[in-house]
Amino acid sequence: MKKLILAITILLLLATSVKAQIWTTPQGVREIPIANLSDLAIASFDQIGPVIYFNPAGMQQVGPLAAAFCMAHEYGHHNLGHIIQRLWNANNPYVQAWLNQNMENDADAYAVSYWVSQGNKAVIQAGATMMWISNNIGDQTHLPSRIRANNIANLFFQLTGTPLYQ
Ligand SMILES: [Zn+2]
Repeated sequence: MKKLILAITILLLLATSVKAQIWTTPQGVREIPIANLSDLAIASFDQIGPVIYFNPAGMQQVGPLAAAFCMAHEYGHHNLGHIIQRLWNANNPYVQAWLNQNMENDADAYAVSYWVSQGNKAVIQAGATMMWISNNIGDQTHLPSRIRANNIANLFFQLTGTPLYQ
């Protein structure tokens, strides 16, 4: 069992180093792995300041490119002022109940704009493909994932004049 835990830890460290090559962590927001997090990643606050909790196994499963899209989405929530510290609930730090559908769409758009600015089409393709494949119906704040995938592709075309998949 200890060997298994060691092997998983090494895999996670490798996955983290792959991610680091794509994603440079902006200062001020700490990225904190939480095993069994219900979502891939969640922007929130803790006692020290702004954080992004992420599910390391989930991120590994979707791969480093889709993970980089997800992280840009969460940074979007922070950088667009969606995560309001006074609403942070110490009893339930992984809930983003105050977000609304406009904020979720804006965070997707932030991620697209960010990766366009970085010239990294592959990350945007991976994010949209992940949403297309997951094909979920969404929830109170998230549109159905295939609509999000289409919105991402449409915004990419608006920003670059080229189709996302070509
Ligand atoms: Zn979000």
